[in-house]
Amino acid sequence: MSGETVRKQTPPRVPPNLDDYDKTYEAFSWARARTKLYGLPGGRGLNIAYEAVDRHVASGHGEAVALRCVGRDDSVTTVTYRELARSTARFAHVLRTLGVGRGDRVVTLLGRCPELYTVVLGTLKNTSVLCPLFSAFGPDPVAQRLRLSNARVLVTTAELYRRKVAARRAEFDDLEHVLIVGEGAEELPGTVALDALTAYASDTFTIPPTSPDDMALLHFTSGTTGTPKGAVHVHGAAVAHYATAHYALDLHPDDVYWCTADPGWVTGMSYGIVAPLMHGITLVVDEGDYDARRWYRILAEQRVSVWYTAPTALRMLMRTTPRTGPYDLPASFDLSALRFIASVGEPLNPEAVLWGRDVLGLPVHDNWWQTETGAIMIANFAACDIRPGSMGRPLPGVEAAVLRRGEDGRAEVVDGRVTLLQEPDAEGELALRPGWPSMFRGYLNDEERSRAAFAGGWYLTGDLVRRDADGWYWFVGRADDVIKSAGHLIGPFEVESALMEHPAVAEAGVIGRPDPVAGNIVKAFVSLRPGFEPTTATRQELLAFARRRLGPAVAPREIAFDQHLPHTRSGKVMRRLLRARELGLPEGDISTLEGTEGSA
Ligand code: ATP
Ligand code: MG
Repeated sequence: MSGETVRKQTPPRVPPNLDDYDKTYEAFSWARARTKLYGLPGGRGLNIAYEAVDRHVASGHGEAVALRCVGRDDSVTTVTYRELARSTARFAHVLRTLGVGRGDRVVTLLGRCPELYTVVLGTLKNTSVLCPLFSAFGPDPVAQRLRLSNARVLVTTAELYRRKVAARRAEFDDLEHVLIVGEGAEELPGTVALDALTAYASDTFTIPPTSPDDMALLHFTSGTTGTPKGAVHVHGAAVAHYATAHYALDLHPDDVYWCTADPGWVTGMSYGIVAPLMHGITLVVDEGDYDARRWYRILAEQRVSVWYTAPTALRMLMRTTPRTGPYDLPASFDLSALRFIASVGEPLNPEAVLWGRDVLGLPVHDNWWQTETGAIMIANFAACDIRPGSMGRPLPGVEAAVLRRGEDGRAEVVDGRVTLLQEPDAEGELALRPGWPSMFRGYLNDEERSRAAFAGGWYLTGDLVRRDADGWYWFVGRADDVIKSAGHLIGPFEVESALMEHPAVAEAGVIGRPDPVAGNIVKAFVSLRPGFEPTTATRQELLAFARRRLGPAVAPREIAFDQHLPHTRSGKVMRRLLRARELGLPEGDISTLEGTEGSA
């Protein structure tokens, strides 16, 4: 699958932040990275909100634009760093007045409106803990997370509260305050209008001393492989947010940056709020939903220079404009400001990297991380060649390893020790050496699961990878998704990527279906691009195509057509649901299933 290497021929418009991988990796230390941050005045510790907002005002950049929010109606609201410093100060005072303090959980259930950014950063200023929920969650997933997080405060809108929370309010023992953004609080008993509280609050706030080990954020995982887990993150994570955005996203002071992930997910928080604001750049926020034309328009009109998105979004764009052309839609927009594209969340099929190169003029840089890691761990860097299909190499400061697997598919642990696989291309579980600042500090209220994530001095990621002879990492699959067939171990990603190279295939999800002879056979669920029909002939054609690419041992034996592959709300194919449906098993936790209200 390594295929061609995408060489960077055109010189970058700005000198890349990392141009010599080996040298940068060698020279890096987290202690030095920490010196790029300011710290709270008077040596009172490290607070994310100070680094993201107040420090820019203190250093004379208060008039720079922090947020450019594009409304659903295309109106644009700009917020400067000074304005953000003031509004977050007011919100911190509101919390303090309500008696909400250090470590108390504040949950948001909001769209990507300007107030969300105020509430997130104001909560951090107050040293309370922010837990963002995706606003499209239905009542069940919201209830599940409100309970699990022990929320004391919920900030939402009247409409979301009425539809998703009101009927079940009595279930949330810890929930004392519901603050309503915008109109409508008067008609909702047990709620208060946020505006009424902030109106008289002071717009200066002294951030209390904050330890880098103080809890800052609670993030629920995507629920791709099971029940979502609440990962605890601390203020000290800011060191990793800053450094990784510098190296992996190549942020420079003049950048206009757009992260398409919702802040309800860790990407939308770490790289949709914290890291870009720490870099003092202008952040584009789109309140609206995915629409190919709208997205190209935002890239063009807002003069976005760095764009961080996800494979699912790229695949949707690829549906509207195949690599074979014509490129009418993107060509009708001026994308000349764009200089760097990155992607995260799922494996990025090689086809998508090349699509970026051919259609947008820029290859897509894949990077890898998880809710638990808090920040990007492995990446393709701006100045380095790309190996399409590879997630790249470890960030400076990140020590990664491939561990030998045991019977259950996870890293083999014998007497508390694990075995590192050194030989090139050996497949094993990806592990990371604890010590990077944004490592989660455990799953909330679940010590057993937290402990199980570590063994032999490593954090075990649950993902299977191989590392090639030059140190590039290649995603094989999640430990839960890997298919054992006739003695072979097959990663669904490889099969899906091969299928996606066929012009008929828009997206694919691959699972193992139990089989008395082979153990499992590979079955692919495929959605088709416009203009292709789900006929026997198409199926035969795809089976033959996959056999040619992958060989008979790995190619799917069965292909089913499904225009509605199940996705998580963060856009990942839910293979466990495809498997459960195929086998008639219970669907399990579907609280993060896209297109439904979800149930826990
Ligand atoms: P859950 O842990 O609840 O099952 P999840 O693992 O999908 O859900 P996240 O933390 O949002 O929750 O996602 C991290 C996972 O996403 C990684 O462990 C990996 O499986 C996948 N992933 C992220 N980026 C990449 C990438 N570049 N290539 C391949 N897989 C990726
Ligand atoms: Mg996970």
